[in-house]
Amino acid sequence: MARHGFELKTPQQIIMMREAGLATAAALAAVRAAVRPGVTTLELDKIADDKIQELGGHSNFQLVPGYSHTICASINDEVVHGIPAANRVLQAGDILSVDCGAEIGEWNGDSAMTVIVPGAEESELIASRQKLSDVTEQSLWVGIAALAKAKELNEVGAAIEDYIVSQGDYGILEDYVGHGIGRSMHEDPPVYNYRVRGKSPKVVPGLVVAIEPMVVSGSAATKILSDGWTVSTKDASDASHWEHTVAVHEGGIWVLTAEDGGKSKLAPLGVVPVPLV
Ligand code: MG
Ligand code: MG
Repeated sequence: MARHGFELKTPQQIIMMREAGLATAAALAAVRAAVRPGVTTLELDKIADDKIQELGGHSNFQLVPGYSHTICASINDEVVHGIPAANRVLQAGDILSVDCGAEIGEWNGDSAMTVIVPGAEESELIASRQKLSDVTEQSLWVGIAALAKAKELNEVGAAIEDYIVSQGDYGILEDYVGHGIGRSMHEDPPVYNYRVRGKSPKVVPGLVVAIEPMVVSGSAATKILSDGWTVSTKDASDASHWEHTVAVHEGGIWVLTAEDGGKSKLAPLGVVPVPLV
């Protein structure tokens, strides 16, 4: 079922992908529950890995050449691809983005969340970090809602960009984008987080994509740190990353990495996800 160079999934395949999606969601939930000052990102990595294995899967990040961890943990000015380490100790008020993926059978899930490490006194900084995370998360849901109604995939990025611009002076990363997902974690087509001109893949049943806005409080210019992985803002501004794996099928859409398929977050946006049975 190749189309535009990527594989459309059958309903049965999407149902199998849901297993990987739910394992990914469970791993992130376990990490979220463990986030507190004093915890290291390497400890969070083990929590995610244990949960995925408990659910019969394995980490697909470990299948990426050169990468040996289960999560990416990116703190403050780090946007994505932060490497878990025993000397990365969370502090109250840090803004932490955690990206994770599970593979079960031959199918993949991919999801990310941002958490403000609890325990800090209220301050302008903490409030601005919370708003950055909230804006990024909501831009993801706005993008997912757009996908539910879109004829062309590039409508998703336009919706994400319009929402973020309406919320303040934020930067949207352009060097890193979302992607198709299935037998591999990263497949065609690219899923932009901003408006692009030109030809767009059609939104058709069987399309499964990871949508993942990466948003910063300053300039969107980034650099890669000396570890060869960590993507950090050049101006040291804070960053947030949220991601879900979403399937399009004959009956509608279903968010494979959300426990409820996205129902609670999409209802206010006028979209009712439809499960595959
Ligand atoms: Mg990811
Ligand atoms: Mg991804």
